[in-house]
Amino acid sequence: MIDRFLTIGATFDWISPALSVIDELLFGELYRFQIEPCRYSGVEIARALRKKNVNAKARMVVDGKIVIDVRMKDAVKAQILLNTWKVPVLNPLPRKRPRRSGRKRLYHCKHCGTRYKQWRNKCSQCGAPM
Ligand SMILES: [Zn+2]
Repeated sequence: MIDRFLTIGATFDWISPALSVIDELLFGELYRFQIEPCRYSGVEIARALRKKNVNAKARMVVDGKIVIDVRMKDAVKAQILLNTWKVPVLNPLPRKRPRRSGRKRLYHCKHCGTRYKQWRNKCSQCGAPM
């Protein structure tokens, strides 16, 4: 019987990660914003986002950091809103670079002029640093 209680006790630690897995299934793909402690609480930020039709959930506070889950499809909008509110996001979404009409940029060696499709530290023709 005691063993059984211990088992039940042990599952408690396991419940919250499991719940967030279930959430993820219901919620779609999530982007997890990590936010530096600031004048807003996680709940306030999530509420403000929801007012702007961004499906957001304040998740937890880890080492004073606020964690907020946002649906992937709303993540860009959330990022813009957070920027506007000057919320210090620790892991901002990478900015999408506007694609220039299909033409790839070439890098060329300043020393010998050899062209490369990808950036490299050193020119493989003449060995000069790029
Ligand atoms: Zn070169």
